[in-house]
Parts: sequence; C-alpha cells; structure tokens
Amino acid sequence: MTETSTILARGGERIRAGRGTALRARNWRAEALLRMFENVLEVGERPEALIVYASLGKAARNWDEACRIVEALLVLEEDETLVLQTGAAVGVMRTREASPMVLSAVNNTVGRWAGSDRFYERARAGQTIWGGLTAAAWQYIGRQGVLGGTYELLRVIANRHFGGEAPENLARRWMLTAGMGGMGSAQPISASMLGLSSITVEIDPAKARKLLAAGGIDVLVDDPDEAANALFAALEAGEMIHVGLLGNAAEAFEHYERRGLVPDIVTDQTAAHDPRYGYAPVGYGADEWIALREEQPERIEREARASIARQVNAILGMAERGSVAFENGNNLRVQAVEHLGEESAERVYRIPGFMEAYLRPLFARGIGPFRWVCLSGDIEDQRIIDELAASLFPERPEIARWIGLARERIPQQGLPARSCWLGHGERSRLARAVNELVASGELSAPVLFSRDHLDSAGMTHPRIGTEGMRDGSDGVTDWPLLDAMLLSTAGADLVAIHSGGGGYAGWMQSAGVSIVADGRPETAERLTLALDLDSGLGVLRHAQAGYEEARGSASQGGETGDAPIRWLGASCTGEEDHA
Ligand code: NAD
Repeated sequence: MTETSTILARGGERIRAGRGTALRARNWRAEALLRMFENVLEVGERPEALIVYASLGKAARNWDEACRIVEALLVLEEDETLVLQTGAAVGVMRTREASPMVLSAVNNTVGRWAGSDRFYERARAGQTIWGGLTAAAWQYIGRQGVLGGTYELLRVIANRHFGGEAPENLARRWMLTAGMGGMGSAQPISASMLGLSSITVEIDPAKARKLLAAGGIDVLVDDPDEAANALFAALEAGEMIHVGLLGNAAEAFEHYERRGLVPDIVTDQTAAHDPRYGYAPVGYGADEWIALREEQPERIEREARASIARQVNAILGMAERGSVAFENGNNLRVQAVEHLGEESAERVYRIPGFMEAYLRPLFARGIGPFRWVCLSGDIEDQRIIDELAASLFPERPEIARWIGLARERIPQQGLPARSCWLGHGERSRLARAVNELVASGELSAPVLFSRDHLDSAGMTHPRIGTEGMRDGSDGVTDWPLLDAMLLSTAGADLVAIHSGGGGYAGWMQSAGVSIVADGRPETAERLTLALDLDSGLGVLRHAQAGYEEARGSASQGGETGDAPIRWLGASCTGEEDHA
C-alpha cells in the first residue's frame, strides 16, 4: 500500500489534499481527481467517518473502499476508466484517452425501492451511501459553494423586494434563519456581504462556537429576547450585526412570531431534509438528540416533523405580516406536510422554494454555481484566475463584484477554489483561457473546473431545483441523465449520477462533472465541449419547458454569444396544442 492510502486508512488524522507540482498519479487527470477526493475530506465536516457535509453526505462507501479508490487513481492510465458504484471501486476498464477517467453512480434506486427506510437499512449494512450532491463526486469546496449560492439568492431578493442590492437598501433590514452546519453557516456570512443583518438559531453549541470563532457571527446568546435586543440596538445605530442564538429553531421562531416580529427575510437551513439525523425536535439538547436518534430513531423522526411543522407555522405567520419567506433547499415543507397531513399542503406551500421564486431565470440562461480549484494549492494561482474572471465579462459587472467580495471575505478552505455563477459560454471561455495560462506556465499547475449538482441541467428535485417547472417536468429525471451521457461523450474527467438517500430518498436525481485544464491543446477541445454541453443542455431544458430567457439565450449563443446550441422548437411540449 502506498504512503497516501496509508494516511487515508488511519482516518483519525486530519487529511490534507496533495499540493504542488509533483505527481503521485501517472497523469494530471488522475492526480487532479485524487487531490479532489482528498480535498473533500480536508474541508469536510467529519472526515474520520468520510462525511463531507449535509448530515450524512459521504466521499466513499467506507475506509477500505477509500483506500481502493486511492490505489486505483494512483495507477490509472489515461485510456482507462475507474468505475465507482455507490462509493466503491468496482473495476478499471480500458476505454479511450478521450473518455472520462472516473464514472460514478451513487445510490440510484428504482422508485418503489427508493424510500428512506430501505435506504437506512442498506446504509447500516454498508450497502449504500448518500453521496450528497458533491461529496461522493469529490467536488465540494467547503462553505464557499453555498456562500456563493446564498449570496446570489439574497441579491435577487434584494433586487426584487428591497429596491436593489446596494448596501443602503439593506442597511436596516434583517433575516431570521436557523442552522450553522456545513451549509447553513454560510447564511450570515452571505448576508454580511450585502450589508444585511441576521439572527441565526442553532441547537448545537459546538457548531455555534465554531462559527463565532470564525467570525461568521458577531455575538452568541442563548435567550431569544436578548438576541432580538442586540439586533435592534445595532439596526437603530445604523450598524450591521449577525447574532447567533443558541436554541431550537421551532421554539425561537414561534417566540418571535408571538412577539409580532416581522423579519425582512425568514428562512431556515437546518438539515430538515433528514428528520432522523438533521433536525433536533423541541425538548432536547444537542447531546441528548444525538444519542436518541440512534436509540429511538422513529420517535426522533416523528417529533422532528412535529417541531418542523411548528417552525413552518411560525414562518407562515411572519410571511402573512410581510416577511419575505422561502424554503432554502432543505425539504422543510415536505416534512411539515408529512406531519400535518396533505390538507395542510395548500397553506404550507405558500412558502415558495428558493429556486422557483428567485433563481430560475438565471438557470434558464445556464447561469449557475460554477467553480474552479487550483490544484497547485498556490493562492497566487487563485489570484491570477480571479483577476482573469473578473476582467473577462465586463457586460456582467456582478461577476467582478462577487470575485472582489469573495477574495476579501471568504477564508481559505482546502485547495484554493472559487465558486462563481457563470453562464452558458462564459464557463468554457474562462476554462480555455485558464488552459492557456497552464500551458504558458503562468499558472503553476493544472486547474479543475466543476459545479454544484444543483445546476441548470444537472438536477431534478421537485421540491428544490425543479419545483414548479412551467411544463410540469418537476420530477422528470431525463435531464440529469441526458446531461451525464453528454458529459461522458465530451470526455469530462469525472462524471457522476447521484440519487437521494435518507431524507432525500425518492426526491432527487443529479449529475456532476469535473474536468481538468492541464494545458494541453487537445484539452481545450474537451473543456469547451464538456462545459458547453452541460450548460447548453440546461438552456435547452428550460427552453423546452417554456422559459423565454432560455429561448433567447439559445438563439443568441449563450451569455458570450459564442457557444451555439440549436433548440428545435416547442413541437413536442404540447404548446402548439394549447395555442
Ligand atoms: P448540517 O447537518 O451540517 O447542519 C445542520 C445544522 O442544523 C446543524 O448544525 C444542527 O445542529 C442544526 N439544527 C438541527 N436541528 C435544529 C433545530 N431544531 N434548531 C436549531 N438548529 C438545528 O447540514 P448542512 O450541510 O448545513 O445543510 C443544511 C441543509 O441545507 C440540508 O438540508 C442540505 O441538504 C440543504 N442544502 C441546501 C442548499 C441550497 O442550495 N439551498 C445547498 C446545500 C445544502
């Protein structure tokens, strides 16, 4: 066994991704994927359990498989493909140099067998995992991905409801939310980038103290009135503040609702998608909850759903008085309806999902959470690409603004990386330019491009990414599957298809992609093909579903005008029949 996999096998130690210019694998494509595998563990929440984020999202099935994956990547040739099945290394197959190096399918299960009980049973037996969106596809870059997404979302909300995103429009406004986990902790930080204040509720003192120490919140209190007083004192003084409140979200939200407080924005980012592991019911401290969810999982699930229903009721009350309320991608409403019964659905779903309400017009243009990772580990490489990206798209000044904010405010986590919402044509233009900088030696090592699975073509989740699609295709998984097929034909370096586990069982299907700019001329072609096919399919999907932004983008060659796709029209969407 090599030194690398021995390090991984110990598991107890903090894992650090490979850096520098020396290869351990036989080529940069495999080395890049190896570094990304290590990186998701370096920045992940519980690397000793291979858990990266979102409560149970894992990088590999178990430690034996983690070592097998590393061993395989170390000797993988460019005309070979490593096949992963639900986080286990099944085999290496001879393919072609232009084929993906890694193909991975995680927990894809036929509908009738896709329920959460069967998932937990198989997960306990070590037969399956929840791959998260980016955990098992080794594309997670730490909090920055969700920071960028939350920033974009709040920006759209500010423009829609508060007269614009300029700081003066947000200076005396505040957001009430909950959850300071891997994703949720991004909320106050993204809000602060726009000048918006916040109260964030968290049940686990360790999580809250960690965010306080990292500067993500300014103060931490355990009394809801004290939290509100601190907030209003700061707002009164014209200062921005981010207050952490130790407690249960359901109780805190109810308390504020009873007091008649009307936050400008109200949402939640506990891991409510998983009522067994992700949401603490009212009445338990963090330790008690963590112990009980193993001992009495059914009880915890039942009580968690009941508490979620209370929190949702409080959110609805605030929304009725004027708060902008939305669900932030964690299935909160699904759990509430499960507790309250189907007859509650009409009321509960007055809280819109964040995609349908705010981000869909961007996805329709193929604009979504793109990212790049400097495999050298050198922050100078990151600076060069940041400056390039900030200068390449003057027609969209929000890109340069985000990069400036991100450089200033986002702490380094793992390999230097940048999340940036780029669209169809923009992604490939940047990637080609970076490939040239790798070739010329201006960048010290190759750069990996990827994106979140919650992207224009990559995701079907009828309560998150694809809620309320105009053509009723909310639950249709053809698109992420087509996406994965297209990405494979393009020779992307890693192509993954994931389906939900635990709380997302039966709810989602996604496709993920990673591709390495290694500076070779032939790579430029693969980069262009893979990135344009991916975002292009997203545009086509939305054109087909009836979104004008997509139809415009498709006819104009995407955001940059140089990424042609041809939408063949609406003949099969039924639109003509309705005309
Ligand atoms: P996590 O498990 O790391 O964190 C959840 C946090 O919520 C924990 O700190 C937990 O202690 C806290 N919590 C649980 N119950 C609570 C309660 N009743 N009151 C107060 N705090 C409570 O999960 P995460 O990675 O932060 O993800 C959170 C959710 O966001 C997940 O459902 C995830 O799937 C979803 N998500 C959404 C997006 C998006 O695009 N909007 C992106 C990624 C993840």
